[in-house]
Parts: sequence; C-alpha cells; structure tokens
Amino acid sequence: MGVNGSVPIAAPYWCDDARVIERLRAAVGPERVITDRDRLAPHETDWTGRWGGPASAMVRPTDTAGVAAVVTACRATGTALVAQGGNTGLVGGGVPRGGEVLLSSAALRLGPHVDPVRGQVLAGAGVTLGEVQRAASAAGWRYPVDLSARDSATIGGTVATNAGGNHVLAHGMTRRHVLGIEAVLGTGDVVSHLGGLAKDNTGYDLAGLLCGSEGTLGIVTVVCLALVTPPEETAVAVVGVDDLATAVAVTAQARRELPGIEAAEVVLADGSVLVQEAFALAPVLAPEPPVTLLLEVAGPAGAAERLASFLAGVEGLGGSAVAEDAAGRAALWRIREEHNPAINRLGPPHKYDVSLPADGLDAVVGAARERVAALAPTARLWVFGHIGDGNLHLNVSGLDPDDERVDEAVLGLVAEAGGSISAEHGIGLAKARWLPLARSPEEIRAFGAIKAALDPDGILNPGVLL
Ligand SMILES: Cc1cc2nc3c(=O)[nH]c(=O)nc-3n(C[C@H](O)[C@H](O)[C@H](O)COP(=O)(O)OP(=O)(O)OC[C@H]3O[C@@H](n4cnc5c(N)ncnc54)[C@H](O)[C@@H]3O)c2cc1C
Repeated sequence: MGVNGSVPIAAPYWCDDARVIERLRAAVGPERVITDRDRLAPHETDWTGRWGGPASAMVRPTDTAGVAAVVTACRATGTALVAQGGNTGLVGGGVPRGGEVLLSSAALRLGPHVDPVRGQVLAGAGVTLGEVQRAASAAGWRYPVDLSARDSATIGGTVATNAGGNHVLAHGMTRRHVLGIEAVLGTGDVVSHLGGLAKDNTGYDLAGLLCGSEGTLGIVTVVCLALVTPPEETAVAVVGVDDLATAVAVTAQARRELPGIEAAEVVLADGSVLVQEAFALAPVLAPEPPVTLLLEVAGPAGAAERLASFLAGVEGLGGSAVAEDAAGRAALWRIREEHNPAINRLGPPHKYDVSLPADGLDAVVGAARERVAALAPTARLWVFGHIGDGNLHLNVSGLDPDDERVDEAVLGLVAEAGGSISAEHGIGLAKARWLPLARSPEEIRAFGAIKAALDPDGILNPGVLL
C-alpha cells in the first residue's frame, strides 16, 4: 500500500516497449491503435488546457470484449491506461500525464436503444449525452441529466464522473438514473448487470460504485439508464437580484412555492459582461444587475404563467424576462452556459467546483475574493453555477497553471465552511492532493482497499483521485 492506503503507481508510465503496441494491435486490430502524433494531439490536453501530456498510443475498441483485451494486454505488461470519452472533464482526469495508453470510448457506439415500455435506455459508453437525450425524447420519454457540453460529453464519461448539471434540483445526479452497467475492471474481468430492474437488491451495487469512480476502477462500456416522464411545458425566467444571499433566498422560496422547479442558476455581472463580449450577445437584462438568477420550471401546461406569477409575488426583485419556446429558453440559458468557454479564452483557468451550505455561500465567496486578491493581485475570480444545489463554480483566470497557492487557499476555505471541494466534476488530478480535506483517513483507506481489489496493479488512471 502507498500513502493513505492508495495503490502504488507503476511508474514511469511511458511504454516504449514495441511489444506492448503489438499486443494492443492484436487485441483490437492495427487500425484501432493510433500512434501518429498529429492524431493523438487533440486527446493529449484537457478541455481547460491546464492538464495533459503525451500518450504512447490511443486504442479505440468497438465492444466490451475489445476493451477487456486491451486491459488484459496492459495488465500483462504493467502499462498505465487512461479512459477518455468526450474529453470535456474539468479536473484533468481523462488525459495522459506522460506515456500512458489512452483508451478512447468513441467507438463504443451501442444504441442508444430505448425500451418504451420500461422507460429505459441502453447505450454504449461512447454515445453522447445529447444523443441519449434525443433518443429518449423521440420515444416519448426524457433523460433529464443535462449540461452544456451535452453534444461532446459521452454517456460513459457522465457515468464515470457521476455528472450533475442543470437539473439536479429536481432529478438528482447521474447515479440516480443508472440501473445497470457493463464494465471491464482493472483485473480484466467483465462485469455485466444490465437487466434494468427497478428493484434489485442482490448484493453490492457495483454500478453505483463505478459511477463517479473516474476511470480508476474499471472501464464502463455499456450503461442502462432510467428515463422520466417528459413535461408538457418548460419555461425559463431570468431576474436581477442584488447579491448571492438574495439569490439563495429567492431560490429557497421557489423550491417551497413553485411546483416543477428544475433549475436555479446564477451568474454575476462581470461574468455576464465577459460572455456578452466574447460571443457578441446583447445583455439579457439592462442595466446589468449585480447577480442574475435563472429559474427553469417544467410540468403541466401553464409553466410560464406559474413562473411569472411566482416572480410577481417576490418582493424587491429587479427586471425579469420569461421564455417558453425552445429558442427563447436557449437564449436565456446561453448567458450561463457560455461561462466556461468565455473564461477559457482568458487562458487555462483554475477551477473550483464546490458545494457550500446555503447560508454560508455568500461569506465564502467574499473570503475567496480576498484570498485571491492577496495571493495573486492580477488574477480574476469568476463566480457562477447551480445555486439551487449550493454548487458554485469559482474560476480563477490569470494564474500560472502550476501555481497551487490559490487552489489551496480556496479549497481550504470551502472545507472550513463545511462544503465539498468537488460538487460534480470529480477529483481527477486537479484535486487529488486535497482529497484529505473532504474525506477522513479511514475513508481514504477504504478507497485504497477498493482500488486494490478491482485494479490490483494500479494500471487504471494512476494519479487520479487517489
Ligand atoms: C462547457 C462545459 C460544461 C460542463 N458542465 C458540467 C455540469 O454542468 N455538470 C457536470 O457534472 N459536469 C460538467 N462538465 C464537465 C464534463 O462535461 C463532465 O464531467 C462529463 O461527464 C465528462 O464526460 P466526457 O465524456 O467528456 O468524459 P472525459 O472528460 O473524457 O473523462 C472524464 C473522466 O471520466 C473517465 N472516463 C471517461 N469515459 C470513461 C469510461 N467509458 N469508463 C471509465 N471511465 C471513463 C476519464 O478517465 C476521466 O476521469 C462540463 C464541461 C464543459 C466543458
């Protein structure tokens, strides 16, 4: 056992042994093993540009048996393996650090097959979230997990990270929807439990364990997901408020009084202006309020009226805009959804995706602002996120990628306030060093024991999470 009960990492990762590449070619076919540097390049840096390194090869198996053959080849040769889906992860967990083999899920394209009677969908890990959503809708159902990277993020990636997103308030995170998984463990064993039964208490919940395991225990190849009833109508409103504390209070009131509330999001004035400038968008509210709160309601017909009448009854609100048609709703969401891309344009950001107790959220943001100003006077703190879940995305631009002083200070503040250092993006590489702020030594020892059982040689995503 290594530090904190973790499994020792096989290092160095670089596999310059031509026999490994030969084994991979034998496992999946030569055309599915990529070593050309130009073709590898887009897969070697993460979405933020902060993390990455060269891979020794990328493999693109088409089915579970191919994945098992790759894992077996890597295990036999002590080669580190990094799973990658759409490469939209924001904690550096899906890119190589230097010499690992990348396993791309892009060719794991089963389905998506919707079972309209059971209200379930079966999909290969490489199918995108957007494709699953559209297949569900076409069959009269709905997959409610949603995030703005929907057309790049894969269903396997969303399961591996237990993705949250825009509708957690009403529908929970990905794990709530996972009915079954097929995966290849670090041992090379295939575990497959895709019966899709709503009730199935037959021992350990391996699907639940693999969900959120960030590619450290197994490679997810197929997923069975539960669907929900689609709403008759959806409406979105944006409204200006004076500060984050007011946004928290209005959100709490909406949760009590507004049936069908599905999303409550915030952006601050400086981020809103940044997005408008980056994408040549007109302001949604003028003058720009200090904080813009976006509320989404879904349910029976009349959603827009219910939303407007709720807002009319809340005292002290600024101007608002309501949209019920798809284009109008998307336009209102855009000011929130373009925050990640707009901030990325300023250079690789440091991202802190944190959950905070609702009553302490404003104070932590204020304290974080002071710490950033003191430690890095030329850096900028941007704040936005899923306020309905107490989940804020604090992003800092203008910091050296390797400068971890602000990371330490901000994550320390969050932990002191009783928050979580990762609300929905996972731990990845970005936060592995700070896991002890969130988990006790006993918990981390249990993590290490699970890792040692399912990935005894530590070949899967070394350095991530543990
Ligand atoms: C603009 C933008 C908005 C976002 N918004 C949200 C949001 O609202 N909520 C949210 O939760 N996240 C959000 N994210 C983060 C990201 O989209 C999610 O983490 C998503 O689940 C990652 O999916 P992916 O296919 O891109 O995975 P990747 O980035 O490729 O990988 C992510 C992790 O999962 C592992 N992995 C990938 N595929 C597999 C597999 N088949 N088996 C085992 N492990 C695997 C990787 O090793 C890595 O550790 C956002 C990202 C962007 C760029």
